[in-house]
Amino acid sequence: MNSLNKNQLKNVSYPKQSIDWLTRLIGFDTVSRHSNLALIEDVQGYCEHLGLTVDLTFNEAKNKANLFVTVPSGENADKVDNGLVLSGHTDVVPVDGQEWSSDPFNAAIRGDKLYGRGACDMKGFIACALTLLPQAVQLSNSGQLRRPLHLALSFDEEVGCLGAPLILADLKARGITPDYCIVGEPTNMAMVVAHKGIAVYRCRVHGKSAHSSLTAQGVNAISYASRLIGYVDTLAEEISCREDNDALFDVPYSTLSVGTIHGGTATNIVPNLCEFTFDYRNLPHMTQDDILAPIQAKVAELSAQMRARAPETGIELMQEESVPAMTDNDSAELQALIAALTGDDDRHKVAYATEGGQFTNAGIPTIICGPGSIEQAHKADEYVELSEMARCDEFLQKLLTSCTLK
Ligand SMILES: [Zn+2]
Repeated sequence: MNSLNKNQLKNVSYPKQSIDWLTRLIGFDTVSRHSNLALIEDVQGYCEHLGLTVDLTFNEAKNKANLFVTVPSGENADKVDNGLVLSGHTDVVPVDGQEWSSDPFNAAIRGDKLYGRGACDMKGFIACALTLLPQAVQLSNSGQLRRPLHLALSFDEEVGCLGAPLILADLKARGITPDYCIVGEPTNMAMVVAHKGIAVYRCRVHGKSAHSSLTAQGVNAISYASRLIGYVDTLAEEISCREDNDALFDVPYSTLSVGTIHGGTATNIVPNLCEFTFDYRNLPHMTQDDILAPIQAKVAELSAQMRARAPETGIELMQEESVPAMTDNDSAELQALIAALTGDDDRHKVAYATEGGQFTNAGIPTIICGPGSIEQAHKADEYVELSEMARCDEFLQKLLTSCTLK
């Protein structure tokens, strides 16, 4: 099984409590730029110890893996094609330049909080899910599990949700269509039913150099870039006033924002290159094409003007990253189930993106619900409150019970 050394998996003992699992998971430095295989290997060993077979999908370099494992249902304990997915990403954001009070990869409990990189985003949820597995296996073995329970652990979520699509493609190929998915990003255990999508674009404006005293001989890349940026800002204004905006989001409209710009070499040179990036955060009912089409039209118009002055000039527009929005269109049944289990009927919508959009895009109704607060994510001294872990344990326990009922 590629670089995973199965011999190392023997004679290992595993935690029984979610706090202990979390401590163990934080000990693996799974910052996105590093391999996550040590963590995956550990979880694989645990699953095999429980009698389960894991399914791994790798990145191209084979130094990162997704893990998907199923606790089957049915009297013959062989039904795997529907069921409920508990999903989490194994990677964490870097700690570079952050001032931590203790080693970020050595979990520390101080007071009623557990500190460590990934404590809330999102090894806390994974820890609770792993803690639940033995009981799910027991129910499966005794024929009481009516709905398969799956665990999906991904890589590279923090750098553009690159891992989850491989899991989803693999499930499709294997004919597995889960009924529901719960993504355990930190929501303080509240039910998040939708989030915005993200599309990041890079725009490269190729002009023509000339001495700044001879402007007619050049094509100013910065000037054309600024016209396009002006257009992006106008478009942002327009979409902020649309009637179909959604007040359940804290920013109730889709946003466009220019984030970086580079261009020019000296004041007395007409610049031949200017590059800028912008991102688009779309409400679930707006597509990425809704915004791209008018921008592409503007790019074509400006490029034509530039080429009329110098044929080698023009504007390139490239998409760098894209994460789909998570829609609540098909999740009413799941929402009702979660509300019944938690006794909390409130639905929330958030601006940050998760793998949830990729799951709903694949036709799997999904909500986000997990321990800890997004406020603590990505920061120094990231923590999760121990009470949040207890709430998540209790929630998953109820969820598992719901999988045993007809
Ligand atoms: Zn996360």
